[in-house]
Amino acid sequence: MSEHSNLIDMPWRNSLVGKFVSLAVIVAFMIMSASAFFNYQTQKTTTLSNIISQSEMLGSFIVSITPEAILSYDFDALNNYMEEINKGEDVVYAIILTPEGKPLTSYVDRRDNFISEKMQNTKIIQLEKLIEELTHNKNIIQQSFPIFYKNNLLGNFKLGVSKYRMENDLRDKLVHQIIVSLILTVLLGIGIFIVFRYYAMKPIKQLILGAQRISGGILDKKVNIKSNDELGHLGQAFNQMMAKLKSSIEDKDEALTTVKELNLYLEERVVDRTKELKEVNEQLEKLAMNDSLTGLPNRFSIQNRLNNLFIEAKRDSSFFTVVMMDLDRFKDINDTLGHDCGDQLLIEVGLRLKEILRPSDFLGRLGGDEFAILLSETDENNARTVAKKIQSALEPSFYLSEMAFSVSASIGIAAYPQHGNTSSTILKSADVAMYYAKKNKLEYYIYNPGADRNTPDRLSLMSELRQAIHEDQLELFYQPEIDINTSRIIGVEALLRWNHPERGFVPPDDFIPMAEQSGLIRPLTYWVLNSAIRQREVWHDMGINILISINLSMHNLNDAEFAPQLEMLLQNTIVPVEYFEFEVTESSIMDNPDHVVEVMDKLNTLNVSFAVDDFGTGYSSLSLLKKLPVHKLKIDKSFIMDMESDSDDAAIVHSVIDMAHILGLKVIAEGVENGTVLKLLASLGCDLAQGYHISRPLPAKIITPQLSLGSWDASNPHSGSVHNLR
Ligand code: C2E
Ligand code: CA
Ligand code: CA
Repeated sequence: MSEHSNLIDMPWRNSLVGKFVSLAVIVAFMIMSASAFFNYQTQKTTTLSNIISQSEMLGSFIVSITPEAILSYDFDALNNYMEEINKGEDVVYAIILTPEGKPLTSYVDRRDNFISEKMQNTKIIQLEKLIEELTHNKNIIQQSFPIFYKNNLLGNFKLGVSKYRMENDLRDKLVHQIIVSLILTVLLGIGIFIVFRYYAMKPIKQLILGAQRISGGILDKKVNIKSNDELGHLGQAFNQMMAKLKSSIEDKDEALTTVKELNLYLEERVVDRTKELKEVNEQLEKLAMNDSLTGLPNRFSIQNRLNNLFIEAKRDSSFFTVVMMDLDRFKDINDTLGHDCGDQLLIEVGLRLKEILRPSDFLGRLGGDEFAILLSETDENNARTVAKKIQSALEPSFYLSEMAFSVSASIGIAAYPQHGNTSSTILKSADVAMYYAKKNKLEYYIYNPGADRNTPDRLSLMSELRQAIHEDQLELFYQPEIDINTSRIIGVEALLRWNHPERGFVPPDDFIPMAEQSGLIRPLTYWVLNSAIRQREVWHDMGINILISINLSMHNLNDAEFAPQLEMLLQNTIVPVEYFEFEVTESSIMDNPDHVVEVMDKLNTLNVSFAVDDFGTGYSSLSLLKKLPVHKLKIDKSFIMDMESDSDDAAIVHSVIDMAHILGLKVIAEGVENGTVLKLLASLGCDLAQGYHISRPLPAKIITPQLSLGSWDASNPHSGSVHNLR
């Protein structure tokens, strides 16, 4: 406030009125002085010519009357004439000279300063000399008139007139005029100052004070300017502005309270809904815990149990093993004897396993012909025994359709903590070990990182993939994502294809996990990012504005160089960053949630948006989802593909959609394979969909015309279950 009051109490010369008055006074004074000077100059000229003509008249008069006096040597008369001349105020001297130059009579004005000075100096009056000197004086105008009588020169009359008095008078007048001008302009200045102060400065000060009040938050004190000039109008406008400001601030406050109330309400709703969801989830969990065919715990409960085992083992520094088993040639049995027989076999296998296991062991069916056994507080050695027991339990033939079948199994063993620190890694290790056992026809195999990495097939595939990156064998296919309500294509997911010269199309699931383990995922992801960005630029140039979703691997998020590289790529493209979205699977998020939150937050500062891929398979918590900067959940295709026939899956999809919406996330369903599922999803309020029913993943060349149309065309030859373009 003090800064503002300085504005009002500022020094006089800095103020507006000060500047204006100074200028006006200076200008007026200069004009008046100039006119006085001009006046002085003209008066000087006219007075001078007056003096000259008067002395000429005097000269002619003397010349006309003196001849008789000269001829009669009447010096009295001549002296009298001189006396007459004496009356002329400015005449300094007059003299009548004979043709030879002798003075007959003369007159000098002893009052004249110059003469009196001369006379004091010389004491002797030598008139001729004095007059001679006077003729050189610039202040004296000298004139000479010849005196004739009947054409005979009788003598000369000389006359000196002083300009001194005239110039003095005029100079005094000029000084006087300048003083008067000065007084007048000062008075004028004071007058302007008073008028200005009252009519302009007073309202301006009021406006300044009003503005200061506004900045101090006082909005109800109007400025009071009564004049009807521009400042009066400004004052009115100022008051109107203040009133508007006041009402908009009031509106804002009101809106803020409403928003706060709404927020409170929403928070309550979220709490309520979360509670409800938890209850529903618990119910669903119960329902979804067991595999309906064998009655054994399903993949979900296996994961759950595994998570608990991890918690316990980490807490108590204990250990456990995971035994994974699948039946050899189960597919053949299924294909030749039919599904019923296959199902029967699975049930029987389950029963036999149950028989040989202890109550503390946990047996479940992972899916298909895969079983998992979780052995708490069991090391590799004891797991070996269990594996052998399993093999012997399966030895006796199975009777299916009244036929005897011998069945063998491949068993992989992975132990905590050596073979994995998270549920997905330990399951993967057991899976790799099982695969190795099957391939090498072993009774069982305990996971060995060396064996996993160095199988010859794997090695050759990886070196081929390294080549493939450079040799143009990779291609991105694009699968549209549509808005369920409008059928518009809102984006595409970029899916990697490897067109191997001998093996044909190698599906990504077959090489991406290996690329992750071998470190090749880094160049592979850069290839994908580059190609996707280039393709998106082509679409940008064509005016196609859609989202492009790119899959990221957990290894990318763990790579410290990834974020800066991505930033550079995104900065170097004309496509706005909002058109890119990155998918990270729920299970990779769950592998190390704290780290993922950190990396995603960092990338989120680049305005990059994220979607959680394969949602439903990773058991993430609501609280974690709230923490992540994700915009979208992509429900895993396993739920979507089965939701039509499996009411549990439909219920899960339903609750995921509700939960996502409460969290403000969009939901996309992948794996939509038919119209019924699409309708079902629409009725559940799902936002987006992707799947073979809409379109298979397609090369850019084929999908581009479809994208130009903008919306999904149900009659598109690439949708539905037509030829597989994988
Ligand atoms: P994803 O991210 O879950 O991709 C969706 C997969 O589902 C794709 O398989 C797609 O072809 C398939 N799909 C789409 N619609 C349907 C449908 O209606 N029914 C069925 N049964 N499947 C459908 P794809 O292309 O074989 O990709 C497999 C996985 O490979 C992807 O799963 C993703 O995890 C990974 N992947 C693909 N491209 C990349 C990539 O560029 N980088 C990384 N890191 N991973 C990739
Ligand atoms: Ca994906
Ligand atoms: Ca997915």
